[in-house]
Amino acid sequence: MKEGTWDYEECWNETIRQFQQELTEQEYQMWFKNINYDKSEKSQIHLSVPSSFYKDQIIRRYSKKIENKIFELLGNKITINFTIKKMFQSTTPPPDSSIQENKKKPNKNKYSFHPQLNKEYTFESFVIGDNNSFAANAALAISRNPGNAYNPCLIYGGVGLGKTHLLQSIGNNAYNINKKITIIYVTAETFINDFILSIKDKTQHIFKSKYRSADILLIDDIHFLQKKTETQEELFHTFNALYDSNKQMVFTCDRPVSELRELTDRLRSRFERGLNVDLQPPNYETRIAILKKKIEEKNIKIPDNVIELICRNVTTNVRDLEKALTKLIAYADLVNKNITLQIAQRQLSDFFSNPMQKNISISVIMRVTADYFGLSFNDLKGKKRTKAIAFPRHVAMYISKELTEYSTTEIGLEFGGRDHTTVMHSCQKIENNMKTDPTLEPTINHLIRTIKEFKISY
Ligand code: ADP
Ligand code: MG
Repeated sequence: MKEGTWDYEECWNETIRQFQQELTEQEYQMWFKNINYDKSEKSQIHLSVPSSFYKDQIIRRYSKKIENKIFELLGNKITINFTIKKMFQSTTPPPDSSIQENKKKPNKNKYSFHPQLNKEYTFESFVIGDNNSFAANAALAISRNPGNAYNPCLIYGGVGLGKTHLLQSIGNNAYNINKKITIIYVTAETFINDFILSIKDKTQHIFKSKYRSADILLIDDIHFLQKKTETQEELFHTFNALYDSNKQMVFTCDRPVSELRELTDRLRSRFERGLNVDLQPPNYETRIAILKKKIEEKNIKIPDNVIELICRNVTTNVRDLEKALTKLIAYADLVNKNITLQIAQRQLSDFFSNPMQKNISISVIMRVTADYFGLSFNDLKGKKRTKAIAFPRHVAMYISKELTEYSTTEIGLEFGGRDHTTVMHSCQKIENNMKTDPTLEPTINHLIRTIKEFKISY
């Protein structure tokens, strides 16, 4: 294009037109539908977008691409400026994006949350980054078109990466769209317990009809089904019944189904049917976007350099990011001070020096605990259940639960393949003992300190 033959507005329209051809329909709908041309001046085009969140995302993802495209068309460099303008009621619906679709903040009252689900878990509050966009978009599509879009769907990924958030967002959004729909959300643990109870009370028919009445069945953390053969059997039949009548099922798991041990092949093949999508840890830019979103939701002010400090240091998962933020806010509240970089550095130093709590390995916990009680590592892993071994083992399990993010299932596996209920009982036992034995808590604290300071690697 020859310079001068375009005015900036035409140039912008052409840019948009070309993006519509080059990008996927979904991407275009999501990000470009709601950008409005405002005005232009020398070497600058002013565009408006509906929110600060949208602005951040557009700049992060597309500003280079937009500028390059305009350069291609005009032959000279133009700067793009974004301003935030609440969209007037245009004929264009909000962009087809999880973030925007449920942008219910201004009229949150109108959004109908499912009574059994957490109101915090919506697509509106879920930040999309490269690490989760596939899963998030699949989840959104499912919520709009249950039973048709992707059925079944399995979302897997490590702790704190947003599995529960997405799963519940599906339920909330589907309910908001259609209140008549029957949505059942349970953790796999609840499903197991419900099933066991139904056997005990001879109410299996009620159990069966309850789960088979679902239009959308959401089961969180299916890794807990491992070893529960009878529950697996029951879920297999529930699955078939729902699948045959085109009812939607979505599951979450802490790892790919292929890595689940102790799962019957036929149930595994059911989970693997349909769509399996993963969630990865967010990269730096996404962490910034998430933290900003959380801060916006809490309606507080935190300087950008503090946000950057947190995001540089907390890399594990979103839950840890939130923990760091909560700690900082709690401190600032307590001493009634504004959060500064110095305060953040001081208050979060522990967190940063030891950010990956999950990295404290269970084997270190076992070795330190065994050492302290004059036992060997293998004693704690082994089968013997004499009091002299069982008690230190309970302690080590309790510390593992306290100090790491591992699930009880994972801890059980580390302790010689024990069941997660054994781990839960052990933790309970230690908690009870602490109430009656005043020496136990100091002992455990001592062990925790030793474990944290543990420098020698075996
Ligand atoms: P998981 O079930 O995978 O362990 P959760 O869904 O409980 O993780 O997420 C942990 C926390 O992080 C929740 O408070 C959730 O709202 C938040 N979170 C995770 N991913 C995102 C995201 N992409 N955007 C906003 N918040 C997120
Ligand atoms: Mg979860």
